Amino acid sequence: MLEPAYQADVVIVGAGVAGLSAAHRLTSQGVTVAVLEAAPCVGGRMSTEKIDGFRLDRIGQLLSTAYPELRLAPGLDGLVLRPFAPGVLLHGDGRHHRVDAPAGARSARGALRAVRALASAPRGVPGPGLVAASRRAAFRVLPGAGQGTASRVARGAAPLGGAVDQARLGAALTRLAHVPVERLLARPELPAGQALAARGLPARTIDGFLRPLLAALLCDPALTTSSRCADLALRAFAGGRLCVPEGGAEALPELLAQTLPAGTVHTGVRVTSVATTSVTTAEHGEIRCRAVLLATDAGAAAQLLPGLRVPDFHPVTVVHHTTDDPPRTGSVLLLDADRGGPVAHTAVISEVDPSRAPSGRALISSTVLGTPPPDLETAVRTHLARLYATPTHRWETLAVHHTREAVPAMPAPHDLRRPVRLLAGLYVCGDHRDTSTVQGALHSAHRATTAILKDLGAAGSMHRADPTPTAQAA
Ligand SMILES: Cc1cc2nc3c(=O)[nH]c(=O)nc-3n(C[C@H](O)[C@H](O)[C@H](O)COP(=O)(O)OP(=O)(O)OC[C@H]3O[C@@H](n4cnc5c(N)ncnc54)[C@H](O)[C@@H]3O)c2cc1C
Repeated sequence: MLEPAYQADVVIVGAGVAGLSAAHRLTSQGVTVAVLEAAPCVGGRMSTEKIDGFRLDRIGQLLSTAYPELRLAPGLDGLVLRPFAPGVLLHGDGRHHRVDAPAGARSARGALRAVRALASAPRGVPGPGLVAASRRAAFRVLPGAGQGTASRVARGAAPLGGAVDQARLGAALTRLAHVPVERLLARPELPAGQALAARGLPARTIDGFLRPLLAALLCDPALTTSSRCADLALRAFAGGRLCVPEGGAEALPELLAQTLPAGTVHTGVRVTSVATTSVTTAEHGEIRCRAVLLATDAGAAAQLLPGLRVPDFHPVTVVHHTTDDPPRTGSVLLLDADRGGPVAHTAVISEVDPSRAPSGRALISSTVLGTPPPDLETAVRTHLARLYATPTHRWETLAVHHTREAVPAMPAPHDLRRPVRLLAGLYVCGDHRDTSTVQGALHSAHRATTAILKDLGAAGSMHRADPTPTAQAA
């Protein structure tokens, strides 16, 4: 229980990855912190449901080993990432085509080594693992993987066109992996779909690979997202490995929470109002502090600070199936270039991360983007049968997780460095202040804590109102 007169230097509202990583950055500098979370557990959107030995993510989580904040954020040293290996399997023209992973990071160990190498590298200097991966980011499209039914439909021309088209795409991605972020962000900004068409790549390459890949990475099937955000997503794809956290999405926030000083995080505490020197909670009255960091989702942030903008959202549905006779595609991410049904991407996720299913059972997790069709379960099952080229009528549905406000939309023009300091003493972070990804949420926390630490350093003057930028303008 919190005492009504509890004092902390900083109160953080919300224990998603943004709030928790902000707490790490502040406590590591000797600042006392109370993280107040309305839900009974930490993690926010990165939650994992446990049913009968299965670990079912609410989100169709795709991380990249090239997300810089995964190595920069304190508290994540013990994070284990499970890469999709060999990478992506495309379902195009009714066949499977394997998109080979960047050379240099082909194995699971390779990707993990890459992350660890970066973790031990001096700040700002990429470690050898990822340098190797990104320097050789060219990929190959091969006839389909696996030895089961799936491989029998995996012959014929690749959906990306011939060898020359593939070489051009590989070269384009390799170049992208080496463009400094700031240069990427200075490029003209268009909706991603339009920008792709203007890049001079063959339509087949765009429709057969880049569209389905970007739709999956951005949770945006119409590709209205800003081309700068799309370029960042492609850059991370080209320079790293797609991966998931071992044990489920919740592993990441739980690791952050467990490694904070005891008594920092308080769950089941709903904040009802905020000011620069206190917050009011539904359960414990007023809690006084020297600064408040709002680390909720965009909607809750705007309820507490009505001037804040609320973006549109991309809805996402994740459907989990189990079977004892799984498709033999291996630990790949299967993308549908044919758009022959509601599933945007799917994986036998227990092949990627065996801890997610009990022994003898396979877990297949599939993601539907946008508003789901009324006959979702049937439509998904039928589509999966085509994608995996195997009967699915005996597969058991374990859970259907629909999140209407899943991912903040990032249409052009998108400000991905939205102000995090509203007033001296009042700050805001979360994916809606940056890019709508785990990387964006962590990065916004990084920016916000830098501002807080600077203001706390000038403690004498920190509660004087700073006219710019105000919550109204944010
Ligand atoms: C279905 C889905 C798929 C996704 N796919 C991907 C992906 O593939 N790759 C990727 O990188 N990202 C993905 N994301 C996005 C990613 O999960 C988010 O960007 C990230 O988790 C946001 O973290 P956050 O800390 O900013 O916010 P949140 O996780 O929303 O945390 C905010 C916290 O604030 C708490 N809170 C709210 N109001 C109050 C209050 N009044 N008092 C106290 N506490 C409060 C909430 O309970 C919550 O715990 C996906 C998200 C979803 C939902």
